[in-house]
Amino acid sequence: MTKRINNFSAGPAILPVEVLEEARDNMLSLGDTGIGIMEHSHRGKAFIAVLEQVEADCRKLANISDDYSILFLQGGASSQFFMVPMNFLEPTQTADYLLTGSWAQKAAEQATRYGKVHTAASSKDRNFAYIPKTATYSEKPAYVHFTSNNTIFGTQWAKEPETPKGSTLICDASSDIFCRPLDVSKYGMIYAGAQKNLGPSGVTLVILRKDLMGRGKTDLPEMLQYRIHADNESCYNTPPTFGIYFMGLVFKWILKQGGLEAVGAANTAKANVLYQYLDKSSMFRATADADSRSLMNVTFVTGKEDVDNKFISEAKKAGFDGLKGHRSVGGMRASIYNAFPKSGCEELVAFMGDFEKKNG
Ligand code: PMP
Repeated sequence: MTKRINNFSAGPAILPVEVLEEARDNMLSLGDTGIGIMEHSHRGKAFIAVLEQVEADCRKLANISDDYSILFLQGGASSQFFMVPMNFLEPTQTADYLLTGSWAQKAAEQATRYGKVHTAASSKDRNFAYIPKTATYSEKPAYVHFTSNNTIFGTQWAKEPETPKGSTLICDASSDIFCRPLDVSKYGMIYAGAQKNLGPSGVTLVILRKDLMGRGKTDLPEMLQYRIHADNESCYNTPPTFGIYFMGLVFKWILKQGGLEAVGAANTAKANVLYQYLDKSSMFRATADADSRSLMNVTFVTGKEDVDNKFISEAKKAGFDGLKGHRSVGGMRASIYNAFPKSGCEELVAFMGDFEKKNG
């Protein structure tokens, strides 16, 4: 088999090898069923057993109570940008958004179609290089929406934003879900596209408090109402069966690593390898403020576009793939999601050190 290389892609992204191997083995026959995982009916016993186990493991991983529904939807995190306000924002109401990057902005833009949007905080003034420390909320927000990790700008909320008492917190956790311990009880809803920390693209995990779900509008097309998906155990229509199955393997893998505490410690150690190097380098520097740095996406620049490009191209030749920053910001980005090994961070730092010596 072709050797696997250091894959720093922002998503779809690196997945655990043992999970890929198990999925491969079940591709031709799920267990002893004689039918591959992708070929099983979503209404059949075998897939329903998979679905129930995936949900149970998700609950176990983040200690999610029965007050919450767990849904597996399609349409990517981007569909949640409109489904959230479509369900939970009336034209007369205001939803508060914390603008910490392009994805947060996109979410807020969609909400303007359904009601009023108030920007409670923004870090746009410095090209989203930091997480705002304060926010000014509207009087009675329908909900407060934030993006826990800003994939493009390499910033991450260290903890949940302080919000007005009794308000409903909704989070786009697409690029950092289950990267560290998570207190789900603080949230009305958490959603995440799978393709970074959870599995292949094509499935979106939604963790939704049932009382909030109950307040959702009832005059929307069925596919766009959360309650319909919950009432039908994510099988109102054909769900993304393979993605759900794969996500379940990833949950089991995280549990085997020791759960979210252990994964959080490993992610901190991994990110530190890169940030410590960046902080002492005389060629490279991290772009995010020190107190806002992401554990998942480490963004950095040399300050010279031609040197950035040379670095990216030489790194690629040396087997470090996916380091080019998002097209909207340039520079470099090392995405080091849960499945990315610490050894890959150490190898990158060694390579950067050599590059710095030769080109400094
Ligand atoms: N939110 C965040 C934080 C993201 O990083 C992304 C994708 N990179 C999205 C939303 C959009 O996700 P999707 O492509 O699944 O719609």
